Amino acid sequence: MKPMGPIPSGYEGEEGMLLIGGCGAASLVDEAGDTPLFVYDMARVERQIAHFRDAMPAAVHLHYAIKANPYAPLLERMVGQVDGFDVASGGEVTMALDAGMAPDRISFAGPGKRDDELSVAIHAGVTINLESEGEARRAIAVGRAIGKLPCLAIRVNPDFDLKGSGMRMGGGAKPFGVDADRAAALARAVIDAGAEWRGWHIFAGSQNLDSAALIEAQAATIALAARLSEAVGVTPPLVNLGGGFGIPHFPGDLPLDIPPIGAALEQALDARPEILKGSSFAIELGRWLVGEAGVYLTRVVDVKDSQGERFAVVDGGLHHQLAASGNFGTVVRRNYPMAVANRFGDPVAADPVTVVGCLCTPIDRLGDKVALPPVEEGDLIAIFLAGAYGASASPSNFLGHPAAHQLLLG
Ligand SMILES: *Cc1c(COP(=O)(O)O)cnc(C)c1O
Repeated sequence: MKPMGPIPSGYEGEEGMLLIGGCGAASLVDEAGDTPLFVYDMARVERQIAHFRDAMPAAVHLHYAIKANPYAPLLERMVGQVDGFDVASGGEVTMALDAGMAPDRISFAGPGKRDDELSVAIHAGVTINLESEGEARRAIAVGRAIGKLPCLAIRVNPDFDLKGSGMRMGGGAKPFGVDADRAAALARAVIDAGAEWRGWHIFAGSQNLDSAALIEAQAATIALAARLSEAVGVTPPLVNLGGGFGIPHFPGDLPLDIPPIGAALEQALDARPEILKGSSFAIELGRWLVGEAGVYLTRVVDVKDSQGERFAVVDGGLHHQLAASGNFGTVVRRNYPMAVANRFGDPVAADPVTVVGCLCTPIDRLGDKVALPPVEEGDLIAIFLAGAYGASASPSNFLGHPAAHQLLLG
């Protein structure tokens, strides 16, 4: 038996059936038409947003990084509840605009922006978080060509690390952002070129469960933003402090403690240097907002034994839920939390079962030797933490199976 991560708190069963947003898993499958199915519970997302607002200083804006889950009905609901969207491609700029987010509340980061993507963003009035000197030159040229002033911020590759991050995205040589020691000179050049200066974007890492590490990184971020702004001599309209709030995935992971982060940030902002007194501040979050609100439901097609090991073969797989197979940004494969949705709370079987997807590759393993109630053909397997980096972050064209259904509740 190999352990699995903790099922997010608040998921319960009724007469042995897992409830999602108060509805039984099997009836949700009927409503959607078939498995495999992603169900997203908007009420859970709203509870996370409320938790953030309670814990963080009122002046700190909350941005949603839509790459975590760009499902259109979800984006439409997010528009009224967060203060901005952070996007990472021209396609996501369009999704954010289509959802109804105001262009001046959208910022566009990400390496390798092509001229046509810059053009869409500049035309709409979306802020571009510049990733390099070359991108700054092209953005200014595109703005001139289409007769529109570009709104430009600079993404800074910080000169510090967010310690203990699942994915490190700052510190050292990185394809993201402009090295901190060159950022002020670039800002000066952008301002001198007549662009509308929007400020700094400093993102140091992702999937962090250590509030002390996040507190330290936020303090370092504010100090860096102040130092750069003083070198430029201009107060930045916005300082995007990054995000990095993680959720528990694996055995031993504990939920991130938010109130101490809010208290420390309030103190750090109260004591911030003069040059940042007129700035706004934002935190950008993806998985922390939506990850625990999603459940992936997939049906057992076959149960088979091989050399003493039991396999449950399901109709889904890594083509929808790559992350649960351990092939999306993890070094060691570990089990996501999962359950038999129609035997929720039943005693586990004497022997573990390995849950595999329907793809003809050995990496399509959703649960390795997990302790579940006895699994039969037709059962529904629920894989939790499916609200972020699921449907849109998986290779859905691989092997020609149909796309997963998606359903937003609430
Ligand atoms: C991916 C990304 C995010 C969101 O990360 P989460 O771990 O989902 O919170 C935020 N900001 C940037 C710049 C990103 O690339």
